[in-house]
Amino acid sequence: MAKLFFRYAAMNSGKSTQLLQIANNYETMGKQVALYTAAIDDRFGVGMISSRLGIQRQAHTFAGDTDFLSLDWAGISCILLDEAQFLTPDQVCQLHRLAHTRNIPVICFGLRVDFQGHPFAGATWLLTRAEEIEEIKTICACGKKATMHIRINADGSRVVQGPQVEIGGEARYRAVCGRCFHQG
Ligand SMILES: [Zn+2]
Repeated sequence: MAKLFFRYAAMNSGKSTQLLQIANNYETMGKQVALYTAAIDDRFGVGMISSRLGIQRQAHTFAGDTDFLSLDWAGISCILLDEAQFLTPDQVCQLHRLAHTRNIPVICFGLRVDFQGHPFAGATWLLTRAEEIEEIKTICACGKKATMHIRINADGSRVVQGPQVEIGGEARYRAVCGRCFHQG
């Protein structure tokens, strides 16, 4: 039977690359996948999943009002969803139901923690519901495993206040270890 998967990572860990690789594996076997990303993430254009290795693909987008149970999944062998931290709790429950009632694996990629060290609601629910949870590892500048993020502004200084969501890639965020997070 299919499962709900959550592969969480810090920023800039290559998670989109992994997602696109899995899509390619399915397609090489002649199977069809559905790609989703958050409408809110327009770093590379709305609906683009972009890996740092230069591969880009158009995806469907989800927003807070997307109802995954009402969509047509005929012929789809796997759902691959990026920026899963932006899912609502309801949507995580929908995807969990989809995996188990329609027998379609749902593989979600996303962040666990925001720049202030607080959880994203979507990640919290995925950590609760997913049958398979895997950490995609990345390294802090000091060499330790990065588990946190810091937000930086144009002059490179750290930002500690602000809204949870502020879209930006490597220019605005650094993945850091717990020690560097607390030492600044
Ligand atoms: Zn560090």
